Amino acid sequence: MLGFLAPDYLAERITDISLDFLSKNEIRNLIIDLDNTLAKRDADFLEGDCYRWLKEAKRKGFNLMIVSNNWQLRANRALLDLSNEVEVIAPAGKPFLKRLKKGIKRMNFDRNFTVFIGDQVFTDILGAKRLGVKSILVLPLSSYDLPHTRFLRKIEKKLISRWIEKGKTQKLLGSDYKVQ
Ligand SMILES: [Mg+2]
Repeated sequence: MLGFLAPDYLAERITDISLDFLSKNEIRNLIIDLDNTLAKRDADFLEGDCYRWLKEAKRKGFNLMIVSNNWQLRANRALLDLSNEVEVIAPAGKPFLKRLKKGIKRMNFDRNFTVFIGDQVFTDILGAKRLGVKSILVLPLSSYDLPHTRFLRKIEKKLISRWIEKGKTQKLLGSDYKVQ
């Protein structure tokens, strides 16, 4: 069911994704969703461990692009401390590609060496598939979501469990995902 949307990997939290694992898989460029992947939906700041993970990724030479469907101001406030080191695209208009494609071109990202990391199947993973890059789904940092997102979450849970069962999506460390 909707197998074309299956992410390559599932991780509980972005910090469960090993940077060495990404390097070994020839990933050099990371496109990362902001809301509920690096920061809780209403927070102006990144989660501490996610921030440290980003810093470490930068130190190891990964190229970073952070995307948010939110408005510029909030994305920038959350990322203020990193703004010299990362490309920020907000609002990104996911899963539409216009702004993402522009960002990829500006950053000179080769799609073969790029992964998209995000917490929503119907925006982040769909965006990744349409861009033709690899994808990693993470579980949302906060259980608070907008009503239309809450509805989609129920569908996502069923889909993910099936994709894992069928071997389309591989679990990374810490991703003990079950249908509730
Ligand atoms: Mg998100």
